Amino acid sequence: MHEMALVHDVLDVVLDQAESCGATEVKAVYLTIGFARDVMDELMDGLFKYLARGTVAEHADLVIRRVPITARCNGCGGVWHVNFLDESTWTCPACGAVRDYRLNSGMEFYISRIEVAGAAPVRHVKERATCA
Ligand SMILES: [Zn+2]
Repeated sequence: MHEMALVHDVLDVVLDQAESCGATEVKAVYLTIGFARDVMDELMDGLFKYLARGTVAEHADLVIRRVPITARCNGCGGVWHVNFLDESTWTCPACGAVRDYRLNSGMEFYISRIEVAGAAPVRHVKERATCA
C-alpha cells in the first residue's frame, strides 16, 4: 500500500505550506495524478482524512484530477492515447511506428493547489505555492 507513503508526503508539504502562510485551516488540497500512477483515489482520500486528523488540514477536501496516459512518437512526434494493456494502442496512428514512443503524460504526481483560510494576505515564497 504505497498510497500511505504518498499521502504522508503530500500532507507534509501541505502542513508546511499552511504553517508558512500562517493558515488556521486548510480548505482543500488539489492533486494532479497521471493514470499511469498505480494509486486508488478512494484510498488516497481515506488515508488523507486519517493522517490529517488533529492537524489544520483535518477538514480539507482532497480533490484529485487524473491525467490520461498519452504517448509521443519518437519518429514523427505524433501524440495519442496509449493503453498498456492493449497492444493495438502501441502503434503510432500517424506513421505506423510500433512501440517507438516515450510517455508524454500519465506519470504526473503533484500538488497543484492548496486552499487555506486565515493566511497572511501577501507572502512570497520562492519556488513554492503562494498563499491565497
Ligand atoms: Zn509516428
